[in-house]
Amino acid sequence: MEKIGKRFQGKVAIVTASTQGIGFSIAERLGLEGASVVLSSRKQNNVDEAVKKLKAQGIEAVGVVCHVSNAQHRKNLIEKTVQKYGAIDVVVSNAAANPSIDTILETRESVLDKLWEINVKSSILILQEAAPHLRKGSSVVLISSIAGYQPESSMAMYGVTKTALLGLTKALAAEMGPDTRVNCVAPGFVPTHFAEFLTKNAEIKKNIEDKTLLNRLGTTEDMAAATAFLASDDASYITGETLVVAGGIPSRL
Ligand code: NAP
Repeated sequence: MEKIGKRFQGKVAIVTASTQGIGFSIAERLGLEGASVVLSSRKQNNVDEAVKKLKAQGIEAVGVVCHVSNAQHRKNLIEKTVQKYGAIDVVVSNAAANPSIDTILETRESVLDKLWEINVKSSILILQEAAPHLRKGSSVVLISSIAGYQPESSMAMYGVTKTALLGLTKALAAEMGPDTRVNCVAPGFVPTHFAEFLTKNAEIKKNIEDKTLLNRLGTTEDMAAATAFLASDDASYITGETLVVAGGIPSRL
């Protein structure tokens, strides 16, 4: 981390689902690069712990409990951010659920609803809430998945919701430009709690590594670096794009 710059000095960044895993690393990276960071997730103690970890690194951070499918929580997240920091420069929508490994035709309606609600609808509703406070030159990054391109059977419907984010990125980029850029990161496989069911199994892990061209899983820092790039002015002529960060796992041409 010694070489990182200060691209977010004076900027305010909200990252959803940011108390561990990819979201935490994104918040950490933006904070190390100078942003004031608003952390959030469902559990107060996770929020408190994560804020403590960032503050210990000299990062300006606050935490707000926000279950992304709760309207009052979303409103509160944005209100607290604006009260404390005045405006918003970066929103990273990172929350997702993958509650079932059923095939699509066997997935219960309640699970279909949950997948849509957490993985797609909540991103839209958070941005509706944030939009009036976004500064000129602001940036949104949605976190999709390599599964959005290749919805494998064990996570097919989850993959389809991640495909929806690719379209959402295009549509929102058109709607929110020129003042706000909207981009997307599609991570490959990263050994977090979320992906434990795949990456803890030695055989599956080896299969995934073999599918990459770099012979390894991704790290949360890999995802944070790509997200920070898209959110920063280094990407000031990039909008409506998805950056696949998957070690070369096939996605699209
Ligand atoms: P993770 O390590 O399991 O972290 C999940 C974080 O989300 C935690 O901070 C959790 O804290 C919070 N959270 C969970 N449900 C939430 C909700 N409904 N509302 C608000 N916060 C919530 O997960 P991850 O692997 O970093 O995944 C982050 C994103 O990357 C997801 O969008 C996922 O689809 C995507 N992704 C991951 C991989 C991978 O291989 N890991 C690959 C492709 C894409 P609380 O428990 O306190 O809520």
